[in-house]
Amino acid sequence: MNPGEELDAIAAEVAVCTDCKLHRSRKNAVPGEGPADAELVFIGEGPGFHENEQGRPFVGAAGRFLEELLANIGMSREEVFICNVIKCRPPGNRDPQVDEIQACSKYLDRQIRAINPKVIITLGRYSMARYFPNARISTIHGKARVVNGRLVMPMYHPAAALHQPALRRVVEEDFALLPDLIARGQQISSPEDKPPADPEQLSMF
Ligand code: SF4
Repeated sequence: MNPGEELDAIAAEVAVCTDCKLHRSRKNAVPGEGPADAELVFIGEGPGFHENEQGRPFVGAAGRFLEELLANIGMSREEVFICNVIKCRPPGNRDPQVDEIQACSKYLDRQIRAINPKVIITLGRYSMARYFPNARISTIHGKARVVNGRLVMPMYHPAAALHQPALRRVVEEDFALLPDLIARGQQISSPEDKPPADPEQLSMF
């Protein structure tokens, strides 16, 4: 199965998945979207109201801001893969729960393996925790690290910048680092999408 076929297969499985309680309240599952050969994969938190309605990630105000941030570095959303830690909307936009994240992680694992991106950008604390379990986003945002051979850049979620105008500049500055990171990502070989077993495995760029 080639990467595009694998992404299609994952999306088809997600659409009918009942592996956690979120399937009961979803209207549409939101597997994620973007090209199978994307250099960047953005991982957010979970679908919100508009995403649940349309079955697409980042289509509300945060999505428009993400598109603006990409445009600032000469990119468009059609060039990147955008998805979330969980694929179905939590009721009332509550935070995802540990059992839901664990149940859904298999799909994200497979998406990243299929795409094999140069850089993973985590948006917000839930996707950050996948790679940096005990970190604080205020401390590590904008600092890319190699996690088991794959370059991971934690950032604030665009929605946080919309709610806290002071964060907007911070997010814009972190985004401005991405073109250079893509170039560095080309130097990294044999990536494996696994969280580090030991903090010593992290090396700061
Ligand atoms: S959130 Fe993930 S694990 Fe839960 S039902 Fe949706 S696709 Fe399945």
